[in-house]
Order: sequence, then structure tokens, then C-alpha cells
Amino acid sequence: MISNKKMTKIYKGGKKIMTPEDPQWERFYELLEGPEGCNFHKADVPGGYAWTCDCDVKRPLTRKVLEKYFPTHDVEASLAFFEQHGGYCDCEVLFNVENCDPDED
Ligand SMILES: [Zn+2]
Repeated sequence: MISNKKMTKIYKGGKKIMTPEDPQWERFYELLEGPEGCNFHKADVPGGYAWTCDCDVKRPLTRKVLEKYFPTHDVEASLAFFEQHGGYCDCEVLFNVENCDPDED
């Protein structure tokens, strides 16, 4: 049967969720890694590095970066997505979410 139905896409007015597949992910990652986020930097130990993270599930740095730079994205929904993919604190968002399998629930 030939369908003349138009492809209807419904825009629900919702904001986007920040995921590693998002065109802005790289910028988000850099900001969260940088001085406004976890502030990754070389430590005094050879080959070592250090960063700031309260290891707080509220993820204040992630939230701040999303709110400040990505008004098109839904902060709560993005945080929920990160949590589903191992990002339980600010640094875990950097460590775990990018390498997650997007097809995995
Ligand atoms: Zn952490």
C-alpha cells in the first residue's frame, strides 16, 4: 500500500539533552574539563594530573556549565542521562559518559 501520509514530526517544545552525539558535546566536555569545571591540570607527580570534584551526585559544575553555556539544553534531563551512563558526579561525567554505548539503556 502506498501511503500518502506526510512524515509528521512533533516538536514538543522540550529542550535538547546533552549526549556524546550532540554537536555541542565537544564544547561541553572542554568547558567541564576546564577551569570553570573540574579544572584538570598537571600535578606535581610525573605523568600525574589533578582535578576538582566534590563527587557529589548534584554535579554542581556540570549544572553550572549547562546552565551558563547551553540554554538550548535541558539541565535536568541531561543530568538524568549522565546518571544512566555512569556520570554520578562531575568528573565521572567526563570519565564515563563519552565512552558509553548510546544504544544501551
Ligand atoms: Zn567526581
